[in-house]
Formats: sequence, C-alpha cells, structure tokens
Amino acid sequence: MGKAADWLREERRRTLGDWVAVCLGCGHAQRYFDEFEAELPAACPQCARELRVRCPACDARFSSAFAVDCEACGGPLRSAEQFGVPIRKHERRRS
Ligand SMILES: [Zn+2]
Ligand SMILES: [Zn+2]
Repeated sequence: MGKAADWLREERRRTLGDWVAVCLGCGHAQRYFDEFEAELPAACPQCARELRVRCPACDARFSSAFAVDCEACGGPLRSAEQFGVPIRKHERRRS
C-alpha cells in the first residue's frame, strides 16, 4: 500500500501545490509545496529562462500562476521590460 501512496504523492506534487513558480520568459507555471521548494529548477524547463519563485521586492511567494502583482507588497512580479531580457538578480538557488 506504500506504493500507491507514493504514487499519489508524486502525482500531487507535479500538479498541485500551495505555491507557484512562474517563468518570466514563456509564462510556464509550476506549482509546488513548501517542502519541495529546494527541488525547483532555477531555469524554466521549457525555455531555460529564469523561473521566478519569489517576489523580487519582498521575497513573498505567490499562490497564483496569473499573479501580476505581489500579494504581500503589491509590487510588480513581472514588468514589461522583463520580457525578452533575462534578469539575473536572483541566482541564489543555482548551485
Ligand atoms: Zn519559460
Ligand atoms: Zn512583494
């Protein structure tokens, strides 16, 4: 029975999550749970641009894949000039 539970957990992990990381390039969104944040790729699996996990201003996480402003501080999560230009400020999860 452990197997079925593992499978379900794995499946949930891929499709659900409390938080979401969004690609600044193509808009690809990936949901994740707290405990899997460390496993998120630094770059988008589709276009290899930066995957934004936290607000650049206050470090808050986002819960909506369609969020444009930070839920915590109201700052812009992705501004127009970020499209097409890779912003390299948040490299700390690359290692
Ligand atoms: Zn992308
Ligand atoms: Zn913020």
